[in-house]
Amino acid sequence: MNRDGIDIAGVDGGRVVLTRQQIDGLDSRVRHPLLYAGDEAWDDAILIWNGMMARAPALVIQPASAREVAAAVNFAREHGLLLSIKGGGHHIAGTSIAEHGLALDMSRMRAIVVDPDAKLAHVGPGCLLKDVDQATQAHGLATVLGFISEVGVAGLTLGGGLGYLTRRFGWTVDNLQQVEIVTADGRIRAASREQNADLFWALRGAGANLGVVTRFTFRLHEVGPTVYGGLIAWPFERAEEILQAYRTITARAPRELAVWLNLIRAPAAPFVPERWQGERVCAMAVCYSGDLADADAALAPIRALGDPVVDLLCEQPYTQVQSYLDDGEPKGLHYYWKTEYFAELSDGLLATLRALAAECPIPQGQIGTLHLGGALNEHDGNDGAVGNRDARYAFGVIGIWAPDEPDADTFPQWVREAGQRIRPFATGGSYVNFQTEDEAQDRIRAAYGDNFDRIVGVKRKYDPTNLFRMNRNIRAGT
Ligand SMILES: Cc1cc2nc3c(=O)[nH]c(=O)nc-3n(C[C@H](O)[C@H](O)[C@H](O)COP(=O)(O)OP(=O)(O)OC[C@H]3O[C@@H](n4cnc5c(N)ncnc54)[C@H](O)[C@@H]3O)c2cc1C
Repeated sequence: MNRDGIDIAGVDGGRVVLTRQQIDGLDSRVRHPLLYAGDEAWDDAILIWNGMMARAPALVIQPASAREVAAAVNFAREHGLLLSIKGGGHHIAGTSIAEHGLALDMSRMRAIVVDPDAKLAHVGPGCLLKDVDQATQAHGLATVLGFISEVGVAGLTLGGGLGYLTRRFGWTVDNLQQVEIVTADGRIRAASREQNADLFWALRGAGANLGVVTRFTFRLHEVGPTVYGGLIAWPFERAEEILQAYRTITARAPRELAVWLNLIRAPAAPFVPERWQGERVCAMAVCYSGDLADADAALAPIRALGDPVVDLLCEQPYTQVQSYLDDGEPKGLHYYWKTEYFAELSDGLLATLRALAAECPIPQGQIGTLHLGGALNEHDGNDGAVGNRDARYAFGVIGIWAPDEPDADTFPQWVREAGQRIRPFATGGSYVNFQTEDEAQDRIRAAYGDNFDRIVGVKRKYDPTNLFRMNRNIRAGT
């Protein structure tokens, strides 16, 4: 920025020069000052989770209302600017910040109103998962959200959303009742099954492509506030037995029980006996959200495996279960992963998971499988854009490393190859919220299957010029 104006990325790859007067015009329409590199709030505003994807915009707006979002959207459209939207900044592809573009940082819109009688939560687009879990749990209520508490509600929801409660209540978007959204024309609209139903349908899984959501309304369910959960782990030498047990346990588990099986090296954390720190283990992260009187019976098949090296399973607040894995995935490290959905756990798949875990060269690598089967499978395939109604497990081969770690430059390729070895066992679907920047266009199509063409039609209606392109992008013309 100089006295005369600012040079900023245009929507089609070129550069746009904004005059001082034009910027002042925008500034006068938002409550909080625009941010420039070097401002005190700048670093936080542009910080994203995946350090490998760090980018710097030219200008940041922190809107405080839907009207201010509309002002920003109109400004971006009228001047042909490359626009990005940051919720919690956790998308692995780093899509929430446009290099040298105009970044909307939604962190000032973090209000939540819980209506316990109606069992609804009205949630601002800057909220993190922990904000919603804490506010709803005050009433013994919850909706389906993921289990790293710093993730943004907006991105998670707009791509589908899954977590420990998915088995009971489906995708997060199966619990979405209504949104308020600013579309590319700058209009503030309501969308639900009754109002702008086409837009609402597409938002439930392809939402990042269609506008800026300024409020989400979620249906809530009675959960907790105390659940039974935590971590339990066994030596990796028992992997074959534990993997087979996981298949049996998940086939029979009540829907209140969700188990994330993770083949990892145990961290050097105080809760891990020294002898096991850094050793390969088979870990289960568990959440049993049903009647506590039935918890022992539900967890009996897990406990029956015997002789764990770590056993932290106990009654605890649901909010704690939703955050105890946070430390394992801090902001700023380098992350790269490949993910799939499985419909079943075949012998060949279990053997491949074990082999990958044994071979993984990444010290903090993870081979993880989360049980999803249940409510989501009971909806029609075209109930919302999200699709993937045949998914019974979500899988990830996850690489985490510090940028200066030895051999770090070889890690992404190992993860890619591991992903290729898993692909034959997968459903063929995909989760946009887990797609890395280098995943090909056909993976976006795969994420939506038969729903893809209908989403394109909605995109054509509400964002024909592809103003919203900093995402796993669906073009109106594809
Ligand atoms: C450590 C970790 C754990 C995770 N765990 C889970 C999990 O348990 N379950 C699960 O389902 N997913 C999980 N995810 C994936 C997560 O759903 C995606 O990363 C999601 O994009 C995060 O949302 P965000 O708001 O933080 O992301 P951001 O990076 O801020 O945004 C993601 C995308 O959404 C768009 N967007 C953001 N806000 C808005 C808005 N208001 N209106 C329109 N578009 C918007 C952005 O443009 C961007 O393209 C996890 C991710 C990480 C990194």
